[in-house]
Amino acid sequence: MQRCEVLVIGGGPAGSSCARFLASEGVPVLVMDRERFPRDKPCAGWITPEVLALLGIDPAVYGSERLLQPIREFRTGLMYRDEVVTDFAHTVSYGILRSEFDHYLLQAAGCPTLLGEAAAKIVRTANGWLINDRIEAAVIVGAGGHHCPVAAFMGAAPGRESAILAMVAEFRLPERELSVSFLPPGCVELHFTPDLSGYGWLFRKGCYLNVGFGIYPGSGVRVQTQDFCAHLQLRGDIPLDLTPHLKGHAYLPYRRTGGRDVVADGALLVGDAAGVSSPQSGEGILPAVESGRMAARTILEAAGDYRRERLEPYRDSLKKRFGAHRADAPSAPATLRKLAAAAILSNGWLTRHLVLDHWFLHADET
Ligand SMILES: Cc1cc2nc3c(=O)[nH]c(=O)nc-3n(C[C@H](O)[C@H](O)[C@H](O)COP(=O)(O)OP(=O)(O)OC[C@H]3O[C@@H](n4cnc5c(N)ncnc54)[C@H](O)[C@@H]3O)c2cc1C
Repeated sequence: MQRCEVLVIGGGPAGSSCARFLASEGVPVLVMDRERFPRDKPCAGWITPEVLALLGIDPAVYGSERLLQPIREFRTGLMYRDEVVTDFAHTVSYGILRSEFDHYLLQAAGCPTLLGEAAAKIVRTANGWLINDRIEAAVIVGAGGHHCPVAAFMGAAPGRESAILAMVAEFRLPERELSVSFLPPGCVELHFTPDLSGYGWLFRKGCYLNVGFGIYPGSGVRVQTQDFCAHLQLRGDIPLDLTPHLKGHAYLPYRRTGGRDVVADGALLVGDAAGVSSPQSGEGILPAVESGRMAARTILEAAGDYRRERLEPYRDSLKKRFGAHRADAPSAPATLRKLAAAAILSNGWLTRHLVLDHWFLHADET
């Protein structure tokens, strides 16, 4: 039998951030993940600077041994239409590789890990929890992503939820393409659907090209992603002889009401398991880190009494942080949304200040 105070199930950014905070306060915490790290995760690998700031990561130190691509420029527009170029002339975001980034965060958590084993059996006991018949914990943190087993235990039904669906392919550019590539490193292309319900992206980070498409609610994602990739190949943005091997995933935008129940007796959900990503941009890494830290703080303050009412402050922290800033998707009629989208995305000022600064870079929150 293995025993810990806190068992974090899932070692992605949410789980490792939660564990790191707890471990730094001397709490016996164990992170388990069904994968062995480094492991990959379908993602564009775009992080806003707050992620590094929150985790105390010095970009120079991180970037000295791993890919850290500063982002300064955007090309944005409606899909298959003209683009507006916005050059911030300074670093406003970064590109990372998830295999490297998540591995780094997990190592930085500074606590024991149990990798290569899925949490398959979750049983509530008189003293807390028994996982896989051999791990005992007083409290568990569900950090297993959209299909987290703790979320399922708490009643989430991923197949029946209205989710963002996104597909992505990431590949290393052949040597011959590095100097002739149409897209310079550090430039992000964003191509929005006519009603702003989704967007495709193309993103060069170092010698990697990342292409993908996400939409909410996620209908027809595969066909739209394939069409988008084919368009980029015809345009010469993706080498014709490279076949994007697309991988997809679902996740939930944050909802003030009607989302997953994030607290139970002896259990909390964080990151994608809780459904906290940004409804505007789909950014999930920053809210994963933030929610992981909020959950850790709540656990510390509960001081060993993990009944539901002692963990409720976590829900309030989420509301306080995300509720005020991240409204639900616009519910205006489709025609109106299309007119607004065309007007916004053809205007350089609105693109910079509303789409980029407000929706994607949350510059007004810093
Ligand atoms: C195509 C795509 C592109 C995206 N691009 C971006 C982007 O550029 N920037 C951004 O901020 N966000 C992006 N996101 C969202 C972002 O990837 C997620 O919000 C983020 O990874 C959430 O982190 P997490 O720690 O909650 O979950 P995850 O990163 O999914 O980690 C969950 C972990 O739990 C483990 N696990 C699952 N089940 C079990 C189990 N039963 N037992 C043990 N372990 C288990 C998994 O192996 C995994 O390691 C993108 C999402 C998609 C789908």
